[in-house]
Amino acid sequence: MGKRWIKFIKWLGYSYLMNTRSNEVHDTNNTRRGCRMSTIASKNKKYITQKKFLKLHAEQKVDGCRWCLRKFNKAEQLQSR
Ligand SMILES: [Zn+2]
Repeated sequence: MGKRWIKFIKWLGYSYLMNTRSNEVHDTNNTRRGCRMSTIASKNKKYITQKKFLKLHAEQKVDGCRWCLRKFNKAEQLQSR
């Protein structure tokens, strides 16, 4: 996917990137070095909306990245209890 395409779908609200292999989701407006976005293969990338992410997260189908979606990360949530 080209940079202009990514910009366009982000503008449409698809700012969350799901790694379909690990079911981990990143917030593309908040990525950190630790996200290691470059290691995600293109075929495993799926752009979704925040609404979709919140739905999948509520259904426990995905986990938030511990770097850019810390409050949605299972391990981080357990630690902060
Ligand atoms: Zn991340």
